[in-house]
Amino acid sequence: MSDHDCLFCKIINKEIPSEFSYEDDSFVVFKDINPKAPVHLLIVPKKHIRSINDLTFEHRDIIADIFEVAKKMAINNNVDKSGYKLFFNVEKGGGQEIFHIHLHLIGGWKK
Ligand code: AMP
Ligand code: ZN
Repeated sequence: MSDHDCLFCKIINKEIPSEFSYEDDSFVVFKDINPKAPVHLLIVPKKHIRSINDLTFEHRDIIADIFEVAKKMAINNNVDKSGYKLFFNVEKGGGQEIFHIHLHLIGGWKK
């Protein structure tokens, strides 16, 4: 059990069943439950970090690697050439609802 009440930690720890589009040692990727675009993925570091505000130098590998995962996911979902958006919501005023850092990937609109 995780020692704090975090939905994404529970998904990562498989305490809540979820289908991963991708998983490696540091990240999981799954579909957003309330998609804002035909493709809407959440790229989630396994390490619990509250928001962008909490990133430090020790997270530099995560910061670099998350964009490699995003690129891979764009290719896998066939939106790399058509184009996509990547964004972080930061804290309540920035629209963040789940306080476990995650990168949104949205795309797949008709051309
Ligand atoms: P944010 O507003 O940036 O914190 O993004 C949180 C996102 O998580 C929202 O777009 C939600 O639709 C999504 N979400 C919430 N619960 C789940 C869940 N159980 N599985 C997948 N996505 C979820
Ligand atoms: Zn968490």
